[in-house]
Amino acid sequence: MQKIVQKYGGTSVGNVEKIKIVADKAVYEKKQGNEVVVVVSAMGKTTDSLFNLAKQLNSTPPTRELDLLFSTGEIVSMALLCMAIENLGYKAIGLPGFLAGIYTDTVHTKAKIKKIDPKKILDELANNKIVVIAGFQGISHEDNITTLGRGGSDLTAIAIAGAIGADRCEIYTDVEGVYTTDPKIVPEARIIPRISYGEMLEMASAGAKVMQARAVEFAQKYKIPFVVKSTFSEKGGTMIKELKLEEGAVVTSVTLDKEQIKITFFHIPDKPGIAAQIFGELGKEHINVDTIVQNVSKENYTDLSFTVNLSDKKHAVEISKKEGVKLGAAEVICDNDIAKITTIGLGMVNHPGVAARMFNALGKENVNIEMISTSEIRISCVIKKSQGKKALRAVHKEFFK
Ligand code: ADP
Ligand code: ASP
Ligand code: MG
Repeated sequence: MQKIVQKYGGTSVGNVEKIKIVADKAVYEKKQGNEVVVVVSAMGKTTDSLFNLAKQLNSTPPTRELDLLFSTGEIVSMALLCMAIENLGYKAIGLPGFLAGIYTDTVHTKAKIKKIDPKKILDELANNKIVVIAGFQGISHEDNITTLGRGGSDLTAIAIAGAIGADRCEIYTDVEGVYTTDPKIVPEARIIPRISYGEMLEMASAGAKVMQARAVEFAQKYKIPFVVKSTFSEKGGTMIKELKLEEGAVVTSVTLDKEQIKITFFHIPDKPGIAAQIFGELGKEHINVDTIVQNVSKENYTDLSFTVNLSDKKHAVEISKKEGVKLGAAEVICDNDIAKITTIGLGMVNHPGVAARMFNALGKENVNIEMISTSEIRISCVIKKSQGKKALRAVHKEFFK
């Protein structure tokens, strides 16, 4: 008998026919004598629709209530899946996050998991039930419902797998695994059979929607291997686990993130403490800053640019304008027309020349690079959003001919 955690994303539970397929897959594992936990996302684009409703009533919805609203999406698919499983003659029990023992901090809409108490889940598995958990949500120590950030059902699944010591953790989605790039933009993309946590984390952080970055971070920290595969096909599948440096490819994947904006402070004093002040204020509001570039200073003044996620735009611009006034900046502007293209590979550590090939591929397509940032296993370039797809195809072609 194995303990199995399966997670099904929004497209996998998008309508009743698909929910029946998911029920069949869960029951199949149960029939093999396994203990089965299923984590579900909200149906289709429900979370987006709920957010749209909220924004029609309030341009900055109170985040506690927003979390209550968001949490309903996953509760709907959870309850429906239980009904479908019972209809197949198997026992199921639905647990929203707060009943599944998922305890978080108090940061609404991007809460972090603090602790999981799996007692209820384990008891219900022992009662011979298939346990269905509403993804993306938990409860804070203040007894408020919280959500775990967009794509957060991935995190629910990984964290539950860790907490119950699952033998297998499977993330089911609408593509056959993790590809060398988004197969919906570049049809030539190839499946990656196995990839390290580090590379998957860089990919997720660089905008490859297939896994939530925080979920991968959690898996890496607690060494929870997992598989990404399709709900609707037996083909493919990608194993994410710890890999040795020599097992990694020089370039594993190329990712495009169109959900970024760039904020620039023009003409601010070039003196110690300025960056700390700006990024300190953004950090206090839980805004993640990505690529940062500071110009060479002229007469002790400089320009400073950085990117943030589109979802943080309103907040980040407000804070930046306020800081701009305090620092005496000539101007603070926000550029929406940007995208970030990232090349990732474990083998980059020992193989120089990847950056040159990437820049060359971009140059040949007349794509101007506005900002560059790197890590040991990643090179990111900020470019114009309108050139994003062309750039992605060109860089992917360069490394995966
Ligand atoms: P789910 O609803 O199952 O959570 P998501 O939409 O969050 O699914 O993630 C799956 C999508 O991620 C795919 O449909 C694909 O378009 C996109 N994607 C982006 N980059 C990649 C990649 N490198 N490999 C696979 N899918 C990718
Ligand atoms: N429903 C949430 C979202 O759309 C969580 C998830 O799908 O993982 O972000
Ligand atoms: Mg997802």
